Amino acid sequence: MKHSARKRFGQHFLTDDSIIDAIVRSIDPVAGQSMVEIGPGLAALTQPLVERLGHLTVIEIDRDLAVRLREHPHLSVVESDVLKVDFSDLSCRQALGLSFSSDPSESKSCKKLRVVGNLPYNISTPILFHLLDHVDVILDQHFMLQKEVIDRMVAQPCTSDYSRLSVMLQWRYDMSNLLFVPPSSFDPPPRVDSAVVRMVPLANPPQLDIKLMAKLVQVAFSQRRKILRNSLGSWLDDQGFQGAFDLQRRAEEVPVSEYVHLVQSLSKD
Ligand code: SAM
Repeated sequence: MKHSARKRFGQHFLTDDSIIDAIVRSIDPVAGQSMVEIGPGLAALTQPLVERLGHLTVIEIDRDLAVRLREHPHLSVVESDVLKVDFSDLSCRQALGLSFSSDPSESKSCKKLRVVGNLPYNISTPILFHLLDHVDVILDQHFMLQKEVIDRMVAQPCTSDYSRLSVMLQWRYDMSNLLFVPPSSFDPPPRVDSAVVRMVPLANPPQLDIKLMAKLVQVAFSQRRKILRNSLGSWLDDQGFQGAFDLQRRAEEVPVSEYVHLVQSLSKD
C-alpha cells in the first residue's frame, strides 16, 4: 500500500538514485560494521546500506513504516523516538547481536557505532545534541540535514554562520560538508536545500564540563551583534571568574579553542 508522507514526522523521502548512490558511497559501509540508521522511512538508503553491511539497525518512529521494515530479514527495527534511544546501550546490544528487547546486563563488550540518516529536519538539532551525549560510543556520523544547518555546523569564526551550533559541535567533532542535495531529490520536496555532513569524533578531545560549555556559549551568543562585555562579562562575574579574557569582541569573533579554555579555567576556579 502506498505510504502518504506525514508532515509531523518530517517525512521527505529520497527518490533520486544518483544522490542515494553518492550518499552511500560517502558513507562507505563495510560488511560487519555496526551501523544504526535514524529514520529509514521507505528504505531508500536502508536497502543499499544493508546490502553492503549484511545487517543494519534502524530507528523509526512511524508505526506503519516500522511494520513494513520488520518484514526485512536483515534489519533490527527499533520502533521509537530517536531522542529516547540510549545509543550507549545500543552499542553493547549490537556487539552482542542482541535484539533491542534483550537484557545486556551481563555484557562487558561494546562496539562503536556508525550512525547515519536523512534526519527529520524539525528535530535535527535536538538529535545532534542527543548524540553528543553518547559520543564516546560513536565511530562516525553521516547525516542529511537542512543545508543552512550544516553551514552553521562547519562555520569558521568571523562569519555570519558561526554560531552556538558551530562551537558546541566543533570542540568535539571534525566535520565536513560532503554533498549538496536539491529539493527535487525528495518526494515530497522540502522547501529548503539540503546537504550531507560527515562528523567524526575527535580522537583526543579536550576534557570539559559540557553543561558549563553549553551555558557559556548560550550566554555568549544571546546577543551576537554586541560586544561580550555586557552579556558574557556579567555572567563571568557571577561565576567569580578572575582570569583574563578579551570581552571587547563579539561572540562570533572568538575561536572554539578560546571557548574551550574559558570553560576549563572556570571549572578549575
Ligand atoms: N530515510 C528516508 C529517506 O531518506 O527517504 C526517510 C527520511 S525522512 C526525511 C525522516 C524519517 O525519520 C521518516 O521516516 C520519519 O518517520 C522518521 N522520524 C521522524 N521523527 C523521528 C523520530 N523522532 N525518531 C525516529 N524517527 C523519526
